[in-house]
Formats: sequence, C-alpha cells, structure tokens
Amino acid sequence: CGVFGIYGNPQAGAITALGLHALQHRGQEAAGIVSFDGGRFHLQHTLGLVGDHFSSEAIIAKLKGASAIGHVRYATTGDTSIRNVQPLYADFEFGGFALAHNGNLTNAQTLRRQLVRRGCLFQSSTDTEVIVHLMATARGGSPVDRLIEAVRQVEGAFSLVALTSKEVIGVRDALGVRPLVLGRLGDTHILASETCAFDIVGAEYVRDVEPGEMIVIDGDGVHSLRPFQPQQRRLCIFEYIYFARPDSVMEGTSVYEARQRIGRELAREAGVPADVIVPVPDSGVPAALGYAQEAGVPFDLGIIRNHYVGRTFIEPTDQIRHLGVKLKHNANRAMIEGKRVVLVDDSIVRGTTSKKIVEMVRAAGAKEVHMRISSPPTSHPCFYGIDTPEQGKLLAHRMTVEQMRDFIQADSLAFISLDGLYRAMGEEKRDPANLGYCDACFTGDYPIPLTDALENPPVE
Ligand code: 5GP
Ligand code: SF4
Ligand code: MG
Repeated sequence: CGVFGIYGNPQAGAITALGLHALQHRGQEAAGIVSFDGGRFHLQHTLGLVGDHFSSEAIIAKLKGASAIGHVRYATTGDTSIRNVQPLYADFEFGGFALAHNGNLTNAQTLRRQLVRRGCLFQSSTDTEVIVHLMATARGGSPVDRLIEAVRQVEGAFSLVALTSKEVIGVRDALGVRPLVLGRLGDTHILASETCAFDIVGAEYVRDVEPGEMIVIDGDGVHSLRPFQPQQRRLCIFEYIYFARPDSVMEGTSVYEARQRIGRELAREAGVPADVIVPVPDSGVPAALGYAQEAGVPFDLGIIRNHYVGRTFIEPTDQIRHLGVKLKHNANRAMIEGKRVVLVDDSIVRGTTSKKIVEMVRAAGAKEVHMRISSPPTSHPCFYGIDTPEQGKLLAHRMTVEQMRDFIQADSLAFISLDGLYRAMGEEKRDPANLGYCDACFTGDYPIPLTDALENPPVE
C-alpha cells in the first residue's frame, strides 16, 4: 500500500490526490482521501485507480480544508470491499480521527479476538482497524497519547499516517520495515511512502522518518517523538528490488541505482556468453541495464509491455493471472531472432511469468534463452505487507534452482546470491549478526514475531 499526508496547505485535497497518483504502483485496488477543513472531516473512498475517481474537479472540491491524508490499497488482509478502503475514519471523544496504513500487523487477529471479547464492534476485516479500537479503549486522553498506546501493543510492519482536527501524524514501526519519508512544500510539511510522491507536486525531500519514530505535524511545525525502544533498522530489501518506484530515494539510496548495482553483481556472479540482454519490463529494466553494462553486451527491448494491463501479481485468480501474462508482454522478434538472449527479471514467485516469457522468446526465434533474477529465490512468504502467496505456491519453496530451470524451460537460470545482494546495497556481505534489512522472503529469518501465523498455522 501507499500512504500520504499533508498539513497546512489550502490545496491539501488536490495535493493528496496527486501524491496518491504517484504512489499508484503500491496498490491499484482502492484509494481514499480524508480531509479536515477546520470544522468538519470530508471522506472520499473508491474501488479502483486514483485517476478514475480523484481526477474529477467536483470530487476534489469536496475535499475541503488545509490538511488531508490518503491511501492506495492492495489487499494483504481483508477482502476487496468498500468497507475495507482506507483511510479508516472514527469519531472519538476528542473528535474525528482518520488512519491510513502501509504494512501488515502480525498479531492483529489475536488482538481482534481480545477486543471483540471486550465488546468492540469491528466495521471492516482489515488488520488496521485493530489500532482504532486499541485507541478507543486506551487510557490516554489526547489522540497522540492514544495512538502511542495503541501502536505499542501491535506487532508487525507499519507505516501509518493519521489525521485529527489538530495534526497530521506519521509513525514507523520500530524496525522501519515499510518506508515513510518527510518532505516540504513551501512552509507546509508532507509525509509519503516514497519520494516520488514529493516530486509530482514539486515538494522537497527532507529525510526518512526514522524507524520507531513518530512525527507530529501541527500549527507549530514538525515534532519528533520516540514511542519505541531503539532497535536495529530492518527496511524491506524487496522495496529496492521490486516494490518501490525506481525514481524514489530510500534511506538516501536511489532505488534505480540499487537495482542497477544488483544487475552488475548478477553479471559478475552468473555471466553467460550472450548476444543481447533483455529486461522483462518494467520491473526488470534497471537490473538488466546494470547487467548489460557490466557484461559489455548490448541491451535491447526484446520484450514489449502493454501498459494498459496492471501488475500481473495483483490480479485475483490463477486463471486470470495466466491470461494477464499473455496480455501484458509480447516478444520483439527483430531484437531476438537467432540470438543468445539473457532475460533479466526481478523475481520468480509462482513461476508463471518466467515460464511464459521464456516460451515467448523461444517462439520468436532465440537461439538460447538464459534467465537471470535480481533477487535470491523467494522461498518464504511475506507477512509484513507484500502480497506473496502461501509458501506451498512459491516455486523456490518446492524446487531446487535446477528444477526451476527445467520448469521454466530456460537454458540456464541463476539468481543473485544473498551476499551479492548485500554487496549491491553497499555492504561487504550479508552479516547475520548485523542485518540492516528485512530479507525474510529469501531467508526465512523473520525479524518480527508471527504471532497470528503461529496460532493459526496455514493449511497447505
Ligand atoms: P510469478 O509469475 O513468478 O508468480 O511472478 C513474478 C513476477 O511478478 C515478476 O515479474 C515480478 O515482477 C512480479 N512480482 C514481484 N513481486 C511480487 C510479489 O511480491 N508477489 C508476486 N506474486 N509477484 C511479484
Ligand atoms: Fe520485504 Fe521480504 Fe521482508 Fe516482506 S519478507 S518485508 S517482502 S524483505
Ligand atoms: Mg515483473
């Protein structure tokens, strides 16, 4: 998901809509904005894309006020229905409160059962609503105190943006698994999942919200609170590999440059004689460029992507996913025929994409097809806000690399090593005693307890 918040700008509603548009890649299922005009809160929620609803002047005009928060959603918990669209909104004794969440809570079901026993009535099936009820049952008075009390009880990954009648609040979980950045537009402040949401409105990137930090933006400016004990930071490494937009900067590192360096490492680790390096667009492009630069082999667009189809993995059923892959990519025969082709993609999840693409490139006359992947094998599901399927559906959980190569019918298959990935991130190697990132989907080393999953193990 993607979150955005702005305080103290008369165009808050319109700016939030633009910010969400820039964050669209983080969730295409639903979008919502809540604004506050000094007296009243205004809510707009929609299923579908930001532009389909929030490009209307009439809708933006309804989002009155100088502060607003917004959310783009792709479901990791809860179904796709309008009641699950964020920001969530609730009326408290202190007034209205809106909340937008990127991430996934790992003890939400456990807390929810306790809250329901205490009489709380849940309106949605999202994990995020637990935070609202924890605030309602908190002892503290002010919204900030209540929110602190609530977030201290939840486990998991969260970057939250909240709106009250007095302030806009941002919080990152103690490990900072999901990103959140602070920006400035004139003398007003902005919070967003990624810096690309600042660029679209001409705002300036100030800094990342620190892991475990709470930022409160009000009439006096920006205040920093520390509700959690300091811990080792563990930003999701997959943000750099795939999820974030390449023109964003996270923790001072350009996502594009990180991807390019991963591609270079991949060429060093797993180079193979070839005539052309071809990215699987769009996600494979920066890594393929890095690979081609390092290998000294021409880079060409041997696969063309149709931009009017959403990200394959967000589509709901296996049948549609198959269809989606065919709709999405086409081989560019002129760049492929008679050549030894290296294909570069960011990840293999179920293996559907790779299998189709290899077949397509062969049918277009490639002499050899080698697949190179800019992440280590995805062997474990993510419980922190990236929508991977259950473990049994992960190709790398069921198969060795050689079996995977056979499954996708490539002449060779290689993944970047874990150490290579960390080298691309500027470290010497993956140091288990001092990990700066979450890499659990590649290692099974989950940095935050999986309380719900341990209580209700998934049936495979
Ligand atoms: P597959 O077809 O192997 O299931 O999915 C791999 C493709 O989905 C890659 O092209 C990759 O860009 C994209 N993808 C990246 N991240 C994820 C993710 O977290 N989950 C899923 N299911 N697909 C992803
Ligand atoms: Fe990111 Fe993987 Fe960790 Fe999930 S498990 S937060 S995708 S690194
Ligand atoms: Mg892809």
